[in-house]
Amino acid sequence: AIKNREIRPYLQPIADRDGVIVGCEALVRWVYKDQGVLPPFKFIPSLEKNGMIAEVDKYMWRCACEILAKWKQRGWNLFISVNISPKDFYYIDVPEYLKSLIDEYHLDPKQLRVEITESIMVSDTEKTIDIMGRLRNYGFIVEMDDFGSGYSSLNMLKNMPVDVLKIDMKFLGKSDDTQKADTIVKNIINLSMELGITSLTEGVETQSQYNILSDMGCKLFQGYYFSRPVPTEEFEELVIEKN
Ligand code: C2E
Ligand code: CA
Ligand code: CA
Repeated sequence: AIKNREIRPYLQPIADRDGVIVGCEALVRWVYKDQGVLPPFKFIPSLEKNGMIAEVDKYMWRCACEILAKWKQRGWNLFISVNISPKDFYYIDVPEYLKSLIDEYHLDPKQLRVEITESIMVSDTEKTIDIMGRLRNYGFIVEMDDFGSGYSSLNMLKNMPVDVLKIDMKFLGKSDDTQKADTIVKNIINLSMELGITSLTEGVETQSQYNILSDMGCKLFQGYYFSRPVPTEEFEELVIEKN
């Protein structure tokens, strides 16, 4: 599928408090024959089981670097966040690999952000802290993905070498007590501010959610309200149109 160019990155914009697109997240899609566009949940679990996930992730990271190199030539200063599967750590030295990639494409490491899911923090704290620290030493911006899903204690944040906290609205959407959910988000945003960590909420679907989160002090936003994940060309049109 990689050889046939069926595996592709879709890009979803990340906006700041002024609604300006400052970057995006690269999300994998498998454009498979007559099946249309397959979302990750249809194939990532099996790839994680059989070990092939590392090949797909390495390819996605390379695609991100290619896009960043093209944008650099255009004078665009946007970042791309890439996903790392916890399983990747078994197969490759992720910090070393990413470092060699940005060197190959002559990029600033700040432009390639690295998303590590919170759940791995709980199962393998020390190893994850070590990897995050090494990524940061190379100059990458480290993001903790799906914050709130892994039941790690807020207390752990003190020791985490992380730059950005991605809070997923989906975890809170399920709650039937929205007031409680609001309080939780508000406190996470405040806490990250105090710790010098940038807060990002994802799954922002409405203007009112955007306004509320913005009032709470959240710095970055991602969600259908701005756009769904789209092919690169479409994302570039969005940037030209909105920025
Ligand atoms: P994630 O990293 O948490 O990515 C965010 C997911 O939320 C994406 O689903 C995105 O399309 C979806 N989303 C964005 N905005 C909204 C919104 O406003 N409302 C709702 N309901 N959903 C929204 P997607 O693209 O299906 O990806 C699912 C998961 O698959 C990702 O969750 C990530 O864990 C994994 N994944 C995606 N791409 C890659 C990849 O290249 N490598 C690895 N290892 N995992 C990936
Ligand atoms: Ca992610
Ligand atoms: Ca997420």
